[in-house]
Parts: sequence; C-alpha cells; structure tokens
Amino acid sequence: MTTCTAPGCSATLDRRGRNRSGLCRRHALALAAAPEVRAKAVIGFRAWVRANPEKISLHNTQASRTRMAWCPPEYREQYHHLTRVKRLTAGEARALLKDMIARDARRYSATGVLPQFQRSEEKRHALA
Ligand SMILES: [Zn+2]
Repeated sequence: MTTCTAPGCSATLDRRGRNRSGLCRRHALALAAAPEVRAKAVIGFRAWVRANPEKISLHNTQASRTRMAWCPPEYREQYHHLTRVKRLTAGEARALLKDMIARDARRYSATGVLPQFQRSEEKRHALA
C-alpha cells in the first residue's frame, strides 16, 4: 500500500496503480492551484496555440457551429448584424430572430415564397 508523498500526509493512494503523481487528491489539487504552476501551464498553452493555428481555427469554427446550432445558416448574417452593428444582447437578437424565423415559416406556408431567400437575393442585387 502506498501513501501520499507530501510531508505529513498519510492518505493512502489508489491501489490500482493509476496514481502517477504520488500525491493524494487534496495535495494534487493544491499543487495544480499554485500560482507558479498555473503560470507555467498558461505559458505552455500559449506556446501550443502559436504552434497550432490550424487547430485553433478548426476549434473556433466548430465551437461557433455548436453555439449557433439554434440558428439556421441563412439567418446567421442577420444575427451578427443585430449583435455587432445594432449592439443587441445575444438573448435579444435570438428572440428577434426566432420571431422572424416563425414569421418567415408562416409566410412560406401561405405564399410558397421563402422570405429569407428573397432577402439574400435583394442583397446580392444591391451589391452588384
Ligand atoms: Zn496528501
């Protein structure tokens, strides 16, 4: 049976051989929370970020897709306009867009015209 290697601690360690630090949970957490250890971890993480820009880009894309999963792709530009240009909070913009999506769905079932498609076409003509 092994015990914690921290001075004055007699806690017994995992007997299945999975403990590699030689520290009990309390002492391992205390070590991880030490300012010099945290600073070293931040430096290491920043170096990894600089060395792997493509992984960061992929992560950001996937995280954005996950966070924006509620919003159909054709409304994303509108959402960004509301939050970045109009400075609405995420919740306000989301509520507005959900109303707009519901309105567009009602209009589509009544007329067979996709309002979101019309909006993107108007924008394309305005830019051309
Ligand atoms: Zn300990």
